[in-house]
Amino acid sequence: MNDKFDPLVCVRDIEESALADGWTIRHLSPTASSARPWLRRAAKTGPGAPRVYLSAGIHGNEISGPLALLEMLRRPDFLAAFDAVIFPILNPDGLARGVRGNTDGVDLNRDYRDPKTAEIASHVETLKTLGRFDAAMMLHEDFEGIGAYLYELNDELPPSLGGEIIAAMGRHVPIDPRPVIEDVPARGGVLQRRDLIAKLGRIEDRPDWPEAIYLSVHHTQVSYTTETPAPFPLEQRVQAQIAAMETLLHAVQIKVRRP
Ligand SMILES: [Zn+2]
Repeated sequence: MNDKFDPLVCVRDIEESALADGWTIRHLSPTASSARPWLRRAAKTGPGAPRVYLSAGIHGNEISGPLALLEMLRRPDFLAAFDAVIFPILNPDGLARGVRGNTDGVDLNRDYRDPKTAEIASHVETLKTLGRFDAAMMLHEDFEGIGAYLYELNDELPPSLGGEIIAAMGRHVPIDPRPVIEDVPARGGVLQRRDLIAKLGRIEDRPDWPEAIYLSVHHTQVSYTTETPAPFPLEQRVQAQIAAMETLLHAVQIKVRRP
């Protein structure tokens, strides 16, 4: 797998795969580097399916997420049993240059409380039309990561789920063993809500909301933010992201059985 990332190629491949498998493709506000497709599809299994949200590519130096979503879209059965919404490439300008922020150097994943960037204003406008989700996953990478870890905001599914997800990722990359990650206590690579609150205060009081907080406040009781370690081979990181999504989807499917 090539570490060079071209958002135009990625967007073309995503739209091609999506069209071939019955997804509706719409677009957020465009950027200089490429369009920003988002995808929606009702479950092939019929009404009452769990509703899930997946996103990636908000930090331009984190490429395993968009590539994992592309690979997932090429597997026709991956989301067949879900009403799914996917935002696969939120920051093409950053991805084109391999930098975290947008062209103005703004970290888009701090702009969800009161959006000032065109990119996130457009994302939030679209989100407002989408209602509730049974679960969400946002795919990230840690540039200096020594292993996989994740942020867990989960008020609904079994509390062991974070451990299951990190274990699935650990079949492809090491798990970050540190007791403190990004200044927050971690348990086997899992950063839990209670520890995030103890460290950072009430999550919704923060001035600089990331996507995960916006979703947690407005759209879902269950969100996970994965972080793969960028120093490891890209193919392994992509497989770790896919394993994380599979584990979440499996748990959601067991939990959500609507009449
Ligand atoms: Zn990130």
